[in-house]
Amino acid sequence: MVNQTCHQLGTAPSVIRELFAYGLQQAAVVGKENVFDYSLGNPSIPAPAKVNQAICDIIHEVDSIQIHGYSMAAGFDAARQAIADNLNQRFALGVKASELFLTCGAAPALISVIKALAVTPDSEIMAVAPFFPEYRPFVESNGAKLVVVPADTEAFQIDLSALEQRISPNTQGIIINSPNNPSGVVYTRQTLQALADLLTRKGEEYGHPIYIIADEPYRELVYGNVEVPFIPTIYPNTIVCYSYSKSLSLPGERIGYVYVPAFAADSAAVYAAVAGAARAMGHVCPPTLMQLVIARCADEMPDLAAYDENRTLLYNALTEMGYSCAKPDGAFYLFVKAPNGDANAFSQKAKLEHNLLVVPGDGFGCPGYLRLSYCVSNEMIRRSLPAFKAMMESYC
Ligand code: PLP
Repeated sequence: MVNQTCHQLGTAPSVIRELFAYGLQQAAVVGKENVFDYSLGNPSIPAPAKVNQAICDIIHEVDSIQIHGYSMAAGFDAARQAIADNLNQRFALGVKASELFLTCGAAPALISVIKALAVTPDSEIMAVAPFFPEYRPFVESNGAKLVVVPADTEAFQIDLSALEQRISPNTQGIIINSPNNPSGVVYTRQTLQALADLLTRKGEEYGHPIYIIADEPYRELVYGNVEVPFIPTIYPNTIVCYSYSKSLSLPGERIGYVYVPAFAADSAAVYAAVAGAARAMGHVCPPTLMQLVIARCADEMPDLAAYDENRTLLYNALTEMGYSCAKPDGAFYLFVKAPNGDANAFSQKAKLEHNLLVVPGDGFGCPGYLRLSYCVSNEMIRRSLPAFKAMMESYC
């Protein structure tokens, strides 16, 4: 016998992975240039040169026993200090290294925080649709219930009245992901302030804090001077889960962190519980080489020119063809309304007739929409436009 929840998670098909696998298979049949794969959110710009240089320098300068050895559970002080310095330059919050817990990316950061906040079997964690599908297993396999706030399909901000209807005394936290996967939308300061006011009011009513769990892998991926407010500056009871997977194009290297601000309610207890949750799951000592890289490269920013070019090309072309789409100010996704409202049928037809691979929004809690990851080559986007046009014409 095996654990049935784990078995189900291990065998359940992933629409995204299936589309990706189909694309590889079809490429062998019809040629790579005839497959238009918008399925995966894998960065398509290289890591900054300074990151690669740092890796080479560290290999030559640092004792190899240290490079390949364990670190402290929470990470090396030098890496945590470099991150704290970077946050302080940008957000002036007086962050200390001791408020940071390094992780193998955002996923283990989120899981540790969720586990730390799952106080009783009735504990609830909220997520705002559309949301990253992995939130469900992260929450449900760590002793809490996922409560979904339906999407605001007008602006893809947060429907606060729907949130208020669903919040309860069991709510421990709400996951906020901005810039958002899959919508590409950035939550405005006004939205976040209104959310903060609501959570403060509800926290007082219930007699316990309701934490924002800020899932921030896309914090630096924003276009055209749009502001991405740093949520702890708006709402003190925020726990940040950050990742360098997308900002430094390092998803395979597994490095990120949890930031528990000292000014958050019960911060010492929350930090200790996050550390304990990470320990319980063996998610400690993220790769030492990457910690040493972050100690040298915490201030590096991605060059977004290629993503921005893709975003502009695809958004303009699709809206001109008659598609409607959430305003894509951040991340590297477009969230497009399926022309007749049936995203699964659109995805299937596009796949079979045009080798055009787009992900239906159902798994993101938002049926009727399609996610397009535009972290692809600009040429592929250009080549794919006739397929999008033919698909739209087939619905007219
Ligand atoms: N959160 C969101 C919204 C994501 O899109 C992803 C990855 O795509 C993650 C978390 C996990 O990122 P990481 O690679 O840092 O674990």
